Amino acid sequence: MRKEDYKVALIVPVYNEHETIDTFLDTVYEKLASELNHLEIVFVDDGSKDDTVQIIREKQEKDNRISLICLSRNFGKEAAMSAALDLVQADAVVPIDVDLQDPPELILEFIRIWRDENIDDVYGVRTDRSKDTVTKRFSAEIFYYVFNKLANRIHIPENVGDFRLIDRKIIDVLKHFSERKRFMKALYAWPGFSSKGVGYSRPERVAGRTKWNYWKLWNFALDGIFSFTSLPLRVWSYISGVVGVFALLFMGLIMVKTMLFGQEVPGYSSIMCAILFLGGVQLISVCVLGEYICRLSSEAKERPVYIAKEVYGPLSAKLPSGLSKSEVGFSYNSNIDNNKQEKK
Ligand code: UDP
Ligand code: MG
Repeated sequence: MRKEDYKVALIVPVYNEHETIDTFLDTVYEKLASELNHLEIVFVDDGSKDDTVQIIREKQEKDNRISLICLSRNFGKEAAMSAALDLVQADAVVPIDVDLQDPPELILEFIRIWRDENIDDVYGVRTDRSKDTVTKRFSAEIFYYVFNKLANRIHIPENVGDFRLIDRKIIDVLKHFSERKRFMKALYAWPGFSSKGVGYSRPERVAGRTKWNYWKLWNFALDGIFSFTSLPLRVWSYISGVVGVFALLFMGLIMVKTMLFGQEVPGYSSIMCAILFLGGVQLISVCVLGEYICRLSSEAKERPVYIAKEVYGPLSAKLPSGLSKSEVGFSYNSNIDNNKQEKK
């Protein structure tokens, strides 16, 4: 692949954004398109109710670099990005917001790092969040802290959004994920390829209003935490188990006390025994159920068990023929070397 032969696709989810599309495209043409030979711009309309679709259609008829995927309703930004990731063929993909809060010119720096340093996931780090409210900054800090403490072996860098350049091989891996609740930030990190951050100061929206509110952010945070750790379930099943065992021990104590010293209040021992026995048994069974649900939830996600990033030596020749690079669990094989050389 010669240097100018690579294809970069911008993925732009849009929801009621009629005010921002013009400015977005003007900036992309001015700051980015002139620098790249093969640029694709993929808009995903996430069920807009205004004339977003018509505006993009007009642009798309005049410029064959623009595509548009229309979703049947509002599925959320994460789903919109997934739709585009499944369809684009480019060598690298850049999810970017249409409101110019993600500066398009930074993509040139992303591309430079991707090509020259062979980094597969080059992400933008918001170095200045002074435009965000104190509550938003504080809640974000708590979220990153909790997530990174709980998530098993995955670390998401702080103050990083979806704005990043992702190499084809990561997209091919993501395509195999069948989970419905997609917390993309962590999913990009999950395959474990090389990554690097580039700092930028996040400006305010060029026009229109944010589509997020605290309720949506809260649910987004829950999706992230519950998709990437089963620790809450596990902790709760331990608590149920311990309380259940204590309830049964206490029941035993009351029985022994009643047999040795007789009843203090008529009916007390039998009622307490019934409550403690049933409560204890139920809590222990919750604990057992918890363990099963824990496993079911991770199985239901059907994530691949492993991804072999590189295979050298005789084994690489043994990869079954006909496996495409996207076959998860195998084939980031000796090709990877060629790719690296070609990129340079
Ligand atoms: N967006 C979307 N679907 C939604 C909400 C937002 O596709 O349900 C798009 C939106 O049009 C924008 C991007 O996601 O291009 C980021 O949204 P926004 O600017 O509202 O989020 P913020 O920057 O405030 O986090
Ligand atoms: Mg925004």
